[in-house]
Amino acid sequence: MTDHPRSTPDYDVAIIGSGLSGTMLAACLARNGAKVLIVDGATHPRFAIGESTIPATSMMMRLVSERYGVPEIKWLSTFEGVQSKINTTSGVKRNFGFVYHRPGERQDPRETHMFPIPKVTHTESHFYRQDIDNWMLTVAAKYGTTVRQQVRITGVEVDDDGVTLAHTGGHFRAKFVVDASGFRSVLAEQFGLREEPSRFRHQSRSLFTHMVGIRPYDEIAPKSRYGHPSPWHDGTLHHLFPGGWMWVIPFDNHLRGTNDLCSVGLQLDPRVHPVPDCSPEEEFRRFIARFPDIEPQFAEARSVRDWTRTGRLQYSSRQTVGYRWCLTSHAAGFLDPLFSRGLSNSLETMHALVHRLLSAIADDDFSVERFEYMQEFEQGLLDFNDDLVANAYTSFGDWRLWDAWFRIWSLGQFIATFEVNRAYARFLDTRDPAVLAPLERPWWRGRVIPQDSPYGAVMELLQQVNDMTRAVQEGRAESGATAEELLRLLREADFVPPAWGLADPNNQWTDASFLEIGRTLRWARKTAPKAVGDLTYDGLTLFMKKRFSRGEFAVGEELKHLLARWPVIGKRLRVPTPK
Ligand SMILES: Cc1cc2nc3c(=O)[nH]c(=O)nc-3n(C[C@H](O)[C@H](O)[C@H](O)COP(=O)(O)OP(=O)(O)OC[C@H]3O[C@@H](n4cnc5c(N)ncnc54)[C@H](O)[C@@H]3O)c2cc1C
Repeated sequence: MTDHPRSTPDYDVAIIGSGLSGTMLAACLARNGAKVLIVDGATHPRFAIGESTIPATSMMMRLVSERYGVPEIKWLSTFEGVQSKINTTSGVKRNFGFVYHRPGERQDPRETHMFPIPKVTHTESHFYRQDIDNWMLTVAAKYGTTVRQQVRITGVEVDDDGVTLAHTGGHFRAKFVVDASGFRSVLAEQFGLREEPSRFRHQSRSLFTHMVGIRPYDEIAPKSRYGHPSPWHDGTLHHLFPGGWMWVIPFDNHLRGTNDLCSVGLQLDPRVHPVPDCSPEEEFRRFIARFPDIEPQFAEARSVRDWTRTGRLQYSSRQTVGYRWCLTSHAAGFLDPLFSRGLSNSLETMHALVHRLLSAIADDDFSVERFEYMQEFEQGLLDFNDDLVANAYTSFGDWRLWDAWFRIWSLGQFIATFEVNRAYARFLDTRDPAVLAPLERPWWRGRVIPQDSPYGAVMELLQQVNDMTRAVQEGRAESGATAEELLRLLREADFVPPAWGLADPNNQWTDASFLEIGRTLRWARKTAPKAVGDLTYDGLTLFMKKRFSRGEFAVGEELKHLLARWPVIGKRLRVPTPK
């Protein structure tokens, strides 16, 4: 780097990268009085991947919004909020659909799962990222962030008084730099932070694009034959097969939507499916031609941008914080889009980072110790995700194992979301950040089971599942026997809410309707072990009391979406179809 003068910093925090992580972080910091600069090498709107939200993502958005006083972030947390306040180019996500395929064979309707998202608690979205990111940048600017686009940072130098960020036209000075530039992290490159090869055991590569003309999967797998509780096309569809999976994320799946595109991606384990000698599009076409019930969905589909084909997706960093710098989640490492955890990881990291940064700015003390926890948190999050996706891919090799594994994953989803629900509701009541402490040390991700943990039995099950699935991956155990054992553990556990049928091998849908929620509350109060019962009860009831408050529930938009489905009355509420 050239010899820049070490002038007094102009900014408290400089953020490299104006994706969702960078812009939300900038908005939170600027809203709380920090002088913030955000710099991006590109210009909005620009393509970005990472479109599907999950309840954990939207809960963290609510929490970040309330804790740091940025109401706009909460608009992102419900489908209706996005539609009424931001744009109509994003899609709705009413379920996670999983359909298991075997090469050369028709799909067996019994080999499917669906996890409908209970509308009473959450409504999730398929973010059309170029529009969402563009909008979020305007929010950051509104709160006072200085925005510089088309300015690529080429180097960063840290000294005792601040940080110098070099770009082709000059330099910026700040007290602290947050690198939110994602995969091509400037700091990782400059400080040699990447682990080569990545420490993760999981391996996958990706092919993705946006398409038009995709058939809703319900035309191929109709409700009359499958009996699924919510249309496949209303959610994020996962086609699973040995050695990989595919995502189908429609933006066109509601009557008031104005975007005909659909995000499509193919994730493959390169050890099972090495890169063939053909174009990415040809590879995609050849690959899906092996599956008689996937190919027809794409028969008329055309891509609207060139396919992206990546090498191995996994990357990791040996260090994620240092003196006057920190990497956000996506700059620190990445595993796999499976289960859509990227944005929730970004939000969890941001939630923990903002208050540390604000107090460092107030004290003018950026010593590493203040941020050390971020390193522990981010690395723990990545390692947890590594186990999660590596085990899932292992289970794709045998339907029986995937079936059992899916049930455990669903249980984990409930537990993690209840914990955030509860913390959020308590925070709204008390405004005391101390009630958010469990989120910074999530017990369900722990690898060591504390003697006195009230959740010891749950942690033990999660660890057993991890070890047993890993044994299958390493060839030390047989998948069918492992699947049976997992189901047995689930059946015998007294902390699994029975109403959702997770332990019932004949039940494919983890449907949490009003009735099931009522039965679960009863179980939580009367039968469940105390800690899990309280968590379930509080996670549902405390949050539901907040769910219908003003600012949270867009009743007008809810009604418009409901009425739009009505034949005559709804006509005006639908986007007109060309004659
Ligand atoms: C194939 C794939 C699918 C995914 N699917 C999902 C999903 O369904 N759900 C989910 O939650 N997550 C998903 N993710 C993860 C998700 O994409 C990320 O978590 C999210 O996009 C991170 O946003 P970000 O703001 O950190 O980074 P990005 O959105 O990548 O933004 C980084 C920004 O930094 C800028 N930049 C880069 N270098 C420089 C430089 N030198 N100077 C200035 N600016 C620079 C870039 O122009 C860019 O605007 C997926 C990821 C991948 C790879």
